[in-house]
Amino acid sequence: MLPVSQAEQMILDLVQPLRETESIDLTLATGRILATEIVSRLDFPHWANSAMDGYAVKFADVRSSTSKHPITLEVVEEIPAGYQPQREIQSGEAARIFTGAILPDGADTIVMQEHTQRVQKNFVKIQIAPTARAFVRQQGEYARSGDPLLTAGMVLNAPEIAILAATGSSQVEVYRRPRVAILSTGDELVSLEQLLKPGQIVDSNQYALAAFVTQAGGVPICMGIVPDDRAKLTAAMSEAIASADLVLSTGGVSVGDYDYVEAILAELGGDIQIRAVAMKPGKPLTVARFERSDRAIVYFGLPGNPVSALVSCWRFVKLALVKISGLPASSWQPNWIAATTTEDLTADGKRETYLWGKLALSDGGYQFSLAGGSHSSANLINLAGTNALAVIPVDVTMLAAGIAVQVLVL
Ligand code: AMP
Ligand code: MG
Repeated sequence: MLPVSQAEQMILDLVQPLRETESIDLTLATGRILATEIVSRLDFPHWANSAMDGYAVKFADVRSSTSKHPITLEVVEEIPAGYQPQREIQSGEAARIFTGAILPDGADTIVMQEHTQRVQKNFVKIQIAPTARAFVRQQGEYARSGDPLLTAGMVLNAPEIAILAATGSSQVEVYRRPRVAILSTGDELVSLEQLLKPGQIVDSNQYALAAFVTQAGGVPICMGIVPDDRAKLTAAMSEAIASADLVLSTGGVSVGDYDYVEAILAELGGDIQIRAVAMKPGKPLTVARFERSDRAIVYFGLPGNPVSALVSCWRFVKLALVKISGLPASSWQPNWIAATTTEDLTADGKRETYLWGKLALSDGGYQFSLAGGSHSSANLINLAGTNALAVIPVDVTMLAAGIAVQVLVL
């Protein structure tokens, strides 16, 4: 059976980044992926300005000031933030200035307010000599007009949004989000609106996978439930393949009499690359590639068990979506960290085993705590709160409490 690491590499090789972009409003760009380099249109700061509330002076005038022998300057102008200074500072003069205000011509240094004493109405005593150019933010000190500020492939979070706003980008060019078709197969499934009859369960995978896709930056296209009926399944699968950038179906990939997905994929012309992976949960996994006139797309036939479906998404589909979305190659890898397990982790040693639980930072290191209750691939109940999967390699049957374990951060 195919080892997990090999399946990961095959999947990454199968999917290709979408290159289409769209221009969107900056206020809607949070979490999106930048598609172009952003070059500064301005110097940052745009002009020399004060980093303090205080007085703008000529350093040469005040270099010898002390509290015993303060130097007195005439205050010739007041410069609040947002105001354009009207005159050049001459020797013997100062301007009252506030944080973020333009440094007036002639001044080169700011004396902080706390080191001064205002006397009469228009004079100020400098009681401690500043250092030359103190508290002046020089024009272009952070970036020059024409400097690259952001590179294509960056995720737009609060810092990048701040930079785009500061450089005047009200619209931003981002990669289009991948459209991911989701369909659930199984005669036992009903949607949320329906009353459960004996033998029926709610199609929880549809909702779980839609949430997963959204969190991974994709647009879920929920195609609903398809019964275990070859003709209906063929129609639904071919519609999904024709319309989406990636297809996820759950169920119907095991060896049961009603497991048609793989056969239909082959009939529809899919190039089936993966049939099963040596992992637990998540062994049944069918991955097929379809050539379409516009692009090649990948179909994931995921196991129906709710935990297996999600583990396969976290372990494989996530990486595919990361690559398709336009993120740089450096992020096409699982987010592994080393943690200490708080209790014994056991496995059968035959397949790479994934156990779900919570990762937390404590005593200076990461600790993994196994979710309580049954680690059955059908038990979605104890998945609640899961933020990490601990992995037990093949041939290992126990990782004792206190031992380091590789953890996939979700
Ligand atoms: P299958 O892979 O079709 O054999 O399904 C395996 C198990 O997962 C069965 O117990 C199904 O009832 C369950 N299952 C399949 N699809 C779903 C779904 N969409 N939502 C919740 N459970 C499912
Ligand atoms: Mg089924």
